[in-house]
Amino acid sequence: MRIADYPREHGIDLSLVIPVYNETESLDALFAELKSTLGALAYTWEIVFIDDGSFDGSFEKLLQIQADCPQVGVVQFRRNFGQTAALSAGFDFAHGNIIITMDADLQNDPADIAVLLAKLDEGYDIVSGWRHARQDSWLNRKLPSKIANWLISRLTKVALHDYGCTLKAYRREVVKNLNLYGELHRFIPALANERGARVTEVKVNHRRRQFGRSKYTLSRTSRVLLDLANVKFLLEYRTRPIQFFGKLGLLSLFGGGLMFTGAVAMKLFANMDLTGNPMLLTSLILFVAGIQLISTGLIGELVTRAYYENQGKPIYTVKTVVQPNRGALDDKTAAGLLGDVEV
Ligand code: UDP
Ligand code: MG
Repeated sequence: MRIADYPREHGIDLSLVIPVYNETESLDALFAELKSTLGALAYTWEIVFIDDGSFDGSFEKLLQIQADCPQVGVVQFRRNFGQTAALSAGFDFAHGNIIITMDADLQNDPADIAVLLAKLDEGYDIVSGWRHARQDSWLNRKLPSKIANWLISRLTKVALHDYGCTLKAYRREVVKNLNLYGELHRFIPALANERGARVTEVKVNHRRRQFGRSKYTLSRTSRVLLDLANVKFLLEYRTRPIQFFGKLGLLSLFGGGLMFTGAVAMKLFANMDLTGNPMLLTSLILFVAGIQLISTGLIGELVTRAYYENQGKPIYTVKTVVQPNRGALDDKTAAGLLGDVEV
C-alpha cells in the first residue's frame, strides 16, 4: 500500500524516532535540518526523541525544541537503557503509519528520508540504509562491521550490507509487535522478514561525527555475535525447539552407540580390556549428553507452548483476509477483524 493511502488514524503519516544519549551539541542543528527536510515532503509528521538517560543537558535542550514545535514529543528514560530500549520506546509512542529511525548525532543525513520513503512506496515493508561511504575509522569500526554484516546476512538469509545503520524506514505494523531485547534492534530486518516483511536497502549518505563521542567501542562486536546466535535460534527453532536439541541429541546417542559397539567389538575380537578403553567412557558421556539434549528440547517445547498460548499469540502473521461478500481488506483492517493477530 502507498503511504498516502493509509488511513490517518492520528493524522500522522511519518514518525521519526530518534534515540538521544548525551548529544546536546547536535540537537539544534539536527532539528533545524529535520524541520526543513520534513517540511518539504507531502506528508504529515512528528518527531519522537527518546532521551536515554543523558546527563549533559540533552533533555533540557529537547524540552526547548518541543516548546517551539508541537510536532515534537520527548520520552525521558530514568536511566540509560541502551539504544535498543530507546528505539523500542519510540515504536511504542509513535503514532505515524511509517516509522523512521535515525541517530541524533547528525551522522545520518535527513535528506535521505525521501529516498527511503520512495522505496517503501514501491511496496517494501522495511527499507534499510546502507552507509556505503561510511565515515568512521577502518580498523575498529568498518572492518568488524563488514565481517558482522557478512555473517548476519549468511545466517539470517536477509542479505544487507549494513545492518548497523540506524537510518531505516518501517511500516508501522511490522515493528509494532516485535519484542526487542539486548542489542536486537539491528536485527529487526531479519526478525521482521521471518514474519513475512519485505526488506530492501538503499545507499545513504554518512557524515563524520562533529560533536561528542561515539557511545560504542569494539566490545560491541562480541555482543553482536552473541545476539546473532540468539537471533539465528529464534528465527529457525522458536516454534519447534525439539527439532534443534532433538537432532543434536539423536546424533549424540548415535555416536555413543557406535563407540560402545566399537569398544565391545575390541573386547571380543582384539581382546582389549573394556575398562581400559577410553571409548567406553566416551560412549557413556555421549549417551548422557544425548538424553540431556532431548530433554532440553522437550522442555523447550513446553516453554514455547506456554509463551504462545498464555499470551494468545498466534504462530502466524496475516497479510490480507477476504471475508465472504465483503471484498479484500487491507492488512490493518484484517488485523482488526482478527483481534490480536499480528500483521
Ligand atoms: N544511543 C542511545 N543510547 C545508548 C547509546 C547510544 O540512545 O546507550 C544513541 C546515540 O545518542 C546516537 C545513536 O544511539 O543517537 C547511535 O550512537 P552512536 O552515534 O554513538 O553510535 P555509532 O554511530 O558510533 O555506531
Ligand atoms: Mg553515530
